[in-house]
Amino acid sequence: MATLRDILTTPDRVREGAGELWETLDRNRVRCYACGHCCPIPEGQPGVCKVRFNCGGKLYVPYGYVAGVQCDPIEKKPFFHAYPGALAYSFGMLGCDLHCAYCQNWVTSQALRDPNAISPPLEADPELLVQEAVAQGAKILVSTYNEPLITSEWAVAVFRQARQAGLLTAFVSNGNGTPQVLDYLRPWIDLYKVDLKSFDDRHYRQLGGRLEPILHTIRSLYQMGVWLEIVTLLIPGFNDSDGELRKLTAFLAGVSRDIPWHVTAFHQDYKMTSPDDTRPEDLLRAAAIGREAGLRYVYAGNLPGSVGDFEHTRCHQCGETLIRRSGYAIEAYKLTPEGHCPACHAAIPGRWSQRFDGQIAARPFLPRSRPQLVRILSQP
Ligand code: SF4
Repeated sequence: MATLRDILTTPDRVREGAGELWETLDRNRVRCYACGHCCPIPEGQPGVCKVRFNCGGKLYVPYGYVAGVQCDPIEKKPFFHAYPGALAYSFGMLGCDLHCAYCQNWVTSQALRDPNAISPPLEADPELLVQEAVAQGAKILVSTYNEPLITSEWAVAVFRQARQAGLLTAFVSNGNGTPQVLDYLRPWIDLYKVDLKSFDDRHYRQLGGRLEPILHTIRSLYQMGVWLEIVTLLIPGFNDSDGELRKLTAFLAGVSRDIPWHVTAFHQDYKMTSPDDTRPEDLLRAAAIGREAGLRYVYAGNLPGSVGDFEHTRCHQCGETLIRRSGYAIEAYKLTPEGHCPACHAAIPGRWSQRFDGQIAARPFLPRSRPQLVRILSQP
């Protein structure tokens, strides 16, 4: 029976990588620039991510499938300063360049490394995905669930169609980028969420990465003018010391005090089952450190109702509550059509619609009709 790797390397499921994202080396090797590993890949081998591979001295990359699609409130990604209430049609492929022991999407991200991660891919094409997104009422198409940088060519193919249909586009990413991949994505991406997992390079190496490429991605995206929000999953005993949080938030505030920082609660998952789940008081301590560092928009997530006003957006100038939330649900919206505070007229950083039209959904749901997506594989 065909293995998942066999299925994903058939001609319909791959394309030659974008010329900007790889180069040839000696001895028929190639170097990939889609993520911060910058793998030199020998003939016949995949890179660290297991989904980009060298065949005959050329780099081949994933194309033409999704591992899953879902309609999410944009607040779930989370973006709190971009089109509140919008529906985000979210799709992912398989594989990741990291191997975090606590990954909440391990079934798709680790599908090529872990035999317990069973996630049959579905055939897809960009035009049909966009048609379906429009039919669901989505405003934004999001590449998420696995690491989108390693499947950037597919994302750009989908985003080209999305732009033609008048949709916005976003990445939900670990941020392990390179100058090459950020330049490649720049024309096609509106919003970017980076998961800043730690501020300690030793911790990043435990997860299979390095800290510096992530910091470079954050600085670069901000300079490029892509709307950026940052998430840190707070894991007791791993990344939650006051010292580490002070360094992390000082770095973010040094890039811009206007970057929203979401500190979210960990729950035991995948292979990380020993730390306790994050408590509300842990989130509140981290959020207070973020505010002390000068960040103007700090949010505490995953524990709705337990984190005081850290679920809401308040004007950085006068403190007026501008958006009141409970979890992903928006309970009140007061921004002006220009994205200003109605009380003191301060411009609130973000990407705002002219008016708030309510939410299609405050919870994720599967698309109501999926006629075009065809299951292509049942794994053994
Ligand atoms: S995406 Fe990253 S891990 Fe995968 S081949 Fe390219 S450089 Fe290596």
